[in-house]
Order: sequence, then C-alpha cells, then structure tokens
Amino acid sequence: MTQLVSEALYNELVAFRHLVHQNPELSGQEFETTKRLTAALKALDIKIIQTKLPTGVIAEIGDDTKGPTIALRADIDALPIEEKTNLPYASVNQGVMHACGHDFHQTSLLGAAKILKAQEASLNGRVRLIFQHAEEIHTGAAEVIEDGHLADVQAIIGFHNNPAFKAGEIGIKPNGIMAAVDQFYVKIKGVGSHAADPHLGRDTIVTLTQIIAQLQTIIARNVSPRDAVVLSVTHIEAGNTWNVLPDEGFFEGTVRSFDQAARVLVKKRFYEIVEHLAEAYQVEAEITWILGPNVTNNDPKLTEIVFQETSKFADVFVPPASNAGEDFATFQEQVPGVFAFIGTNGAENAPGWHHSDFTVDDTALPFAVEYYVSNAKRLLDELQS
Ligand SMILES: [Zn+2]
Ligand SMILES: [Zn+2]
Repeated sequence: MTQLVSEALYNELVAFRHLVHQNPELSGQEFETTKRLTAALKALDIKIIQTKLPTGVIAEIGDDTKGPTIALRADIDALPIEEKTNLPYASVNQGVMHACGHDFHQTSLLGAAKILKAQEASLNGRVRLIFQHAEEIHTGAAEVIEDGHLADVQAIIGFHNNPAFKAGEIGIKPNGIMAAVDQFYVKIKGVGSHAADPHLGRDTIVTLTQIIAQLQTIIARNVSPRDAVVLSVTHIEAGNTWNVLPDEGFFEGTVRSFDQAARVLVKKRFYEIVEHLAEAYQVEAEITWILGPNVTNNDPKLTEIVFQETSKFADVFVPPASNAGEDFATFQEQVPGVFAFIGTNGAENAPGWHHSDFTVDDTALPFAVEYYVSNAKRLLDELQS
C-alpha cells in the first residue's frame, strides 16, 4: 500500500490482475482483454475513444482546454509460453502465458485511471490512457500512432516491471534504457553429396559454422569496446542424418545495440562476412534482416522531473540498461517520453521475462499506480504553455 492506493483499491487491483493473468491472449488477439478493460473503464465513467485498432483500448480523462495532453501507456498482450508457475490463478489458456507481466502493466494503468478520474476536475489538462496491443511482436505502438492517438500528445510515460528489483524500487535513467533490436535469418545453399565424397559437393555445414564463428569478431574487433552490442545466433538447422552432406541449411538470431552508428556498423559487417565467406566456400547465402524497435530513449529533461517526482513515494535509482527491446521506443520517436523499471520481485534467482516460471509481486502494484498518477499530474503542470 501507498498513501494514494487504499487497501480496498489494492484488493480490487490484485483480483483484476489475477483474472487477467489467468486469461492471457496472444499479440493482436487480445479480444477478451480488450472487452474486460473497456467494461472496467466504462464502469468508472471514463470516456472511451473510438479507434480503427483491432484490439487494445484508448481512453481519456480531463480537458485539453485546460492544458497539455499526457499519454500513459501499458501493454496488454501475452506470450506463446506454457506456464509452469503452479499459481492458483495460472493461465487456463494452454500454451499462452503472461510471462512478461503485461497483466501487471494493464492493471496498474486501470488503477491509475480510477484515481485520475476521481480527480478529473482538478487536472490541468488531459490524460490519454493507451492500453496497447501487440507489444511482443513490435507492431502495436506503430499502429496506435498510425491511428492518430499520439498526434496531440506532449509527452508519454510508460514502464516495464522488472523482477531484478524489489517492490518499492523504481529504476529511472536518461537516454537508452532498453536496446535497439535487429533480427536476422541466413539461408545457405550448397550442393549435397554423400558424406564419403565431400569433394563432389559444396558443404553447407562447414560454411555455416565458419560464418557463425566469424560473426563474433564483429563485436570483438569492429564495434568500439565502449559500445554495448550483443550478437546472438539462437537457432541453426542443417541436415538430418549421419552419412549425407545436406544441400542447404540456415541460422537465425538477433543483434542488440544502444548506439545508432554501432547498429549500422554491425549490419554492414554482418553482410560482408556472410557474403564473402559464402563466396569463399562456393555456396549461396541469402540474408533476411528485420529491423525491430529502436532504442527506448528517455528524454533527459523529462527523466529528471519523473525521477524527482517518483522519489517522493518510491526508492528510485539509476538502473543498468536492459538488452531486451521495447516498442515504447516507437512512441518516443514521436514525442518525448520516460520509461522506467518498476521492481516486482528482487529475489536473487528470480525468473526473468519470458520464462515459464516468471511471477510478479502484487505488492508492487501501488507503486506502479502512483508512478502513473503522480507523473501524469506533474507533467500536466510542468508542460503548461
Ligand atoms: Zn516481453
Ligand atoms: Zn514486456
């Protein structure tokens, strides 16, 4: 509990989160989630904005003739993971789980909505609530923007739960807090042969392993040691038996970075290494490169304000950046914003995001609610023109 969140509201929110957790839905298919949120907001007499979005909810509190518009964002989708927590409210949708804690995010924003609605008459402007769909597949934020919901927004606030920190701890830092995400897929086409006659073929497996080994030199020998960059090959397939050299194979993986120049350099070197090694080994290489979200880049000026405001009710610190990605970054390309890490576990070996035994501590809910409410009100005051 905090001063702002009463015991009654806390109990209400815990029940709501457990219900959401029990009924997770995949990205872009959050139909029941959308209905549940819409009903809860309508019950609070909060204005729902009509959208062309398939799922997700946009709502508003306050009056834009009295000041700026501040957006508060929570994502609502779940993951294709089989839950193994054994919680009494574990997922009933087989193979689907709120393993990233977006149940916690949407519940926090609903709690904030209830408090802001009760204070509506005294708000110095308007608060737009964005319950965003499809974060995990990195398409939701762009669709919300495309539908026009950021056009008249002056600043945006969001957060991610973070099991590395305890309830009551909130990490806030300026500039990059989560990484830019690139995804790659490389197909190698050689010539198959009998394992006993490799000279009659063009070996895809030798080529694949050479390429994968050499890709690590991009991080070790091309990227500046001062730039944090990760290149991980996560999946490789070729062949299916012991005495045949296969005619094709592939690998895929991801790059994470915080600096745009480093991001560009890694892609350039990746293409050079793959294409030239393929040529050297006389096979064909086909590269597919998918750009994910940019860096989640916190506006320094707003970050200072949010850091100070949040310090009034939580234990605020500067956290290390995370190499995971977030499509909140897409909003921050349109308007200045702040994204924080709200502690939700803190145990030494707490399971991380996307684990089948991932859990969040409900006692962190009041801190997340207050983070939204107090910073929305503070920015409405700060950004008066
Ligand atoms: Zn996630
Ligand atoms: Zn997430």
